[in-house]
Amino acid sequence: MSDKKKRIVITGGAGFLGSHLCDRFIQDGLKVFCVDNLITGNLDNVRHLWKDKNFEFIKHDISKEFRLGGHVHYVLHFASPASPVDYLNYPIPTLKVGALGSHITLGLAKLKKARYLLASTSEVYGDPEEHPQKESYWGHVNPIGPRGVYDEAKRFAEAITMAYHRYHKIDTRIVRIFNTYGPRMRIQDGRVVPNFIYQAIHNKPLTVYGRGAQTRSFCYYSDLIEGIIRLLRSNVTMPVNIGNPDEFTILEFARLVMDVSHAKSKIIFKPLPVDDPKQRRPDITFAKKYLKWSPQVKLEDGLQETIRWFKQNIAR
Ligand code: UDP
Repeated sequence: MSDKKKRIVITGGAGFLGSHLCDRFIQDGLKVFCVDNLITGNLDNVRHLWKDKNFEFIKHDISKEFRLGGHVHYVLHFASPASPVDYLNYPIPTLKVGALGSHITLGLAKLKKARYLLASTSEVYGDPEEHPQKESYWGHVNPIGPRGVYDEAKRFAEAITMAYHRYHKIDTRIVRIFNTYGPRMRIQDGRVVPNFIYQAIHNKPLTVYGRGAQTRSFCYYSDLIEGIIRLLRSNVTMPVNIGNPDEFTILEFARLVMDVSHAKSKIIFKPLPVDDPKQRRPDITFAKKYLKWSPQVKLEDGLQETIRWFKQNIAR
């Protein structure tokens, strides 16, 4: 059976990445069940799919019992606050959706004999002491710090996914998503890309935390979605890093955003948040070898598209 007509559940489907996944699977002819409680997701991200007969939106908190009639072929668990500011505002929902939400979605996959894909994160590596980060690195996470609610929930989510895989023989995939950006990020979500773009297009000062010497590597959403699709279609059951290995300091990144947006902003320095990882860059050897995947979009080009989108959608 080709993927056409297959039925897929995407939790967090009204979020940034979830909604792009909904688009992709609708294009491919699947029946998409988009599940979201809308605490950080936004219906505007999926409004264009509303009238499609293959699209169904279900407003539901996936940390609570979930039932769906009929066959399900794929379950993708993408629901979670994902910005440090959001998971500070929603610490308990973040823990619950990573822990209970993973349990519930794995239960659904088991019941329906569906393939399961967990959206994990580079945060499982914490403030890494190994650089760049390979999948074999166990991480350096503060369990009781402010980011612990996200990091530990995702680490638990990986553990329970592997347990369902090994014990219940569920067909599982785990993607470790590194910093990703693009259209449909919330302009107020507090992450560095929307913050700097918002500040630059309003000629406000760009707020660099610390001295801006910490590094990140930014992947455009379309590259990330392609990596996820390849992982889903592969038979790789161990976690795979998907991200862009081009690494920038946050100060370099601030200058780049100003260049690309022709901003006249200043840069100001603010305190570094607690446990902010000092460096982050994915080692993508594994994805290159087993998924034949590597990112294609240059940061300047992706930023240009993102800035254009934010300018058009600033009122959202
Ligand atoms: N950051 C910054 N200014 C901002 C927002 C974030 O300097 O206005 C920094 C933040 O301290 C971190 C990096 O940018 O070092 C990326 O932060 P983000 O919140 O995007 O996500 P993280 O990669 O930390 O999960």
